[in-house]
Amino acid sequence: MKQGFMQGKRGLIMGVANKNSIAWGIAQSCMDQGASLVFTYQNDHLKSRVIALCEQHNAAGILGCDVGSDEDLDRTFTQTVDILGGLDFVLHAIAFSDKNQLRGAYVDTTRDNFSLTMDVSCYSFTAVAKRAQSVMGAGGALLTLTYLGAERYIPNYNVMGVAKAALEASVRYLAADLGPQGIRVNALSAGTVMTRAARGIGGFEKLLRYNEINSAMGSNVLLDQVGNAGAYLLSDLSGGVTGEVHHVDCGYHAMGMPSVQRARENAQWFSTVDELDD
Ligand code: NAP
Repeated sequence: MKQGFMQGKRGLIMGVANKNSIAWGIAQSCMDQGASLVFTYQNDHLKSRVIALCEQHNAAGILGCDVGSDEDLDRTFTQTVDILGGLDFVLHAIAFSDKNQLRGAYVDTTRDNFSLTMDVSCYSFTAVAKRAQSVMGAGGALLTLTYLGAERYIPNYNVMGVAKAALEASVRYLAADLGPQGIRVNALSAGTVMTRAARGIGGFEKLLRYNEINSAMGSNVLLDQVGNAGAYLLSDLSGGVTGEVHHVDCGYHAMGMPSVQRARENAQWFSTVDELDD
């Protein structure tokens, strides 16, 4: 029988909404490499769909968990350890903001939505890390998902970019806090992928096209490419890596200026675009 590099590893996967979810891509890769997984879904709205998807793939457990609730988080970690007999890794692939504020100007962000976005998209990872710390041993790994909008202005990404910047800073602080226990903490900065959450960002299809033209590889990243990189960061293969933001975006982040050929492609494409948030 094939022995994958995650054979015997027990993981908690938070953030599967459907088969297009980044969490699902990473989960599939972990399962292919032998990991046993418990999944969470946020609420009853997507419950039956997530349960059906996870059951088809022999999930060890499927639990409801709203990361805005400390009680839900406590219960989720207790139940996950009961089900799996321990915990080796956690994937946090969760973000939320009012989609009406993921278009237009960042300066129009409201106080309420700023707090909500920071709570669900940033603080929840720290809350997850706190629970993980109490049940994980040396060799444990935590991974969250971020985006280039944390580092640079991206039209319409707005308050989510600010939350992702705080999330990336959290990764460095958590890496230092949990490092002495042998627990690693990293972020994967994914390129643009069409998902349920991404559809909420104004003009996301245009962002996809612009990334495709301007990435080093001239393409958008595929879900299985993000999945494999995620599995690496959650496994012992990345045993010396912590506090890192790892870009998996076909090299889009590395580009400073387009070639003449790509600049012409950009010019041609921009001539067909009216607004970036439509
Ligand atoms: P997705 O499939 O829609 O996943 C987002 C997940 O977050 C959903 O399962 C959603 O549940 C969950 N969620 C939202 N609020 C929650 C809460 N309070 N408690 C528990 N779960 C909650 O979209 P995705 O693109 O894969 O997003 C996963 C992560 O990747 C996010 O952090 C996102 O910012 C990041 N990312 C995405 C891209 C991209 O291009 N797609 C690029 C870079 C980074 P519901 O659907 O039930 O709300």
